[in-house]
Amino acid sequence: MRSPTVVVGGSVAGVRTVQALRARGYEEDIVLVDQEPGPPYDKPALSKEILTGAAAQPPALADLSGLAVDHRPGLAATGLDLAARRLVTGSGSIPFGRLVIATGSRPRRLPALDSWAGVHYLRTRADAASLRAEFTGRPRVVVVGGGFVGGEVASSARALGLDVTIVEAAPRLLARLMPPEVSDRVARLHRDHGVHVRCGRTVTGCRGRDRVEAVELDDGTRLDADVVVAGIGTTPATRWLTGSGLVLDDGVRCGPDLSAHGADGVWAIGDCARWFDVVRRRPVRMEHWTAAREQASFVAGVIVGDAPAAAFSTTGYVWSDQHGVRIQHVGRVDAATTTSSIPTGGGQLFLHHDGDELVGATAFDAPRDLLAFRRRLASAAAPLTERTRG
Ligand SMILES: Cc1cc2nc3c(=O)[nH]c(=O)nc-3n(C[C@H](O)[C@H](O)[C@H](O)COP(=O)(O)OP(=O)(O)OC[C@H]3O[C@@H](n4cnc5c(N)ncnc54)[C@H](O)[C@@H]3O)c2cc1C
Repeated sequence: MRSPTVVVGGSVAGVRTVQALRARGYEEDIVLVDQEPGPPYDKPALSKEILTGAAAQPPALADLSGLAVDHRPGLAATGLDLAARRLVTGSGSIPFGRLVIATGSRPRRLPALDSWAGVHYLRTRADAASLRAEFTGRPRVVVVGGGFVGGEVASSARALGLDVTIVEAAPRLLARLMPPEVSDRVARLHRDHGVHVRCGRTVTGCRGRDRVEAVELDDGTRLDADVVVAGIGTTPATRWLTGSGLVLDDGVRCGPDLSAHGADGVWAIGDCARWFDVVRRRPVRMEHWTAAREQASFVAGVIVGDAPAAAFSTTGYVWSDQHGVRIQHVGRVDAATTTSSIPTGGGQLFLHHDGDELVGATAFDAPRDLLAFRRRLASAAAPLTERTRG
């Protein structure tokens, strides 16, 4: 009997892999191992509807009952024996023929905040529930980190009328992801909605008796805070693979087709994967919902022998909802040398160019315009992913 295909991680990357395999007529056994208890759910709502109270639970990712998958919630993978082709878990090992690693990422911790009650990180349904419970007490909130998740937490807290300050170590918000023009637009959006924004400052410690009552900044400022939310980026959840023989380097290193270096029949996808991107011509790790879903579909195609191209590529689409504005982005901002802004019907669009070449776009409430640029960038990338086939 053939060993099953095992998928580790039951969030968007893992669940969409199972769905895509079955949709392509794959009939072999599939085991889905996930350390989260309960049915799979979608994460983007955690910083939005769950925090504001607009929804009590995040949306379900899928109804697994019709997919003939052996779902094992609440089970953590603890190791990988590539020679024996077995996944090691907290309760025995599971043989696999093929393995898809989709264990995502975990929040980066800030040592200055360690062991303080009232400090939160946001990644899971349980994290969101405990933060939401604190928000009902009308706390003063300090958000550490001005990326997408931090911005959404600030937006949700303001929607509840809370006093909110964002502290960002870089000179501007979204500095790692966006050019200055977009950062300025996002900072203005926050300020227009009453969020205090402090860039270029780091948190050095906390003050308080039983729990945090204030945070201290590197310029000596003290900000009163009943709740602190740290959103300072993520690290790939790959510690369980240490010593397995896979190459771990800010994610599981993979080739252009997402196959893991150092193993046959093993792929990594989603937030935990660092694959060689033939369009960007370097290894890339993305932490976006859509890229995880696209990678799941690509790997399912590879497994059934029906891959859409020799190399995976993505426009890197990401969205974020802040203060009632939908922010959407596609493309490669790191390649951009200029950014220009054009108004659209009711919204605003930023176009990012490398010389004459369009390399990305960012939209504020301009979904149709963004979609057009997304299609344009995808078709520009297609010949590169095909070429890798030869
Ligand atoms: C609060 C929040 C809001 C977001 N909002 C947006 C948004 O608006 N737009 C957007 O584009 N992206 C958003 N994202 C990012 C997006 O959700 C992620 O990119 C996406 O969830 C990545 O999916 P994944 O399946 O790779 O990993 P994850 O979602 O991290 O899932 C990994 C799964 O693997 C499991 N796992 C981990 N280790 C093990 C192990 N050892 N054994 C077994 N199971 C394990 C975990 O429990 C988890 O279920 C948001 C993320 C967060 C946290």
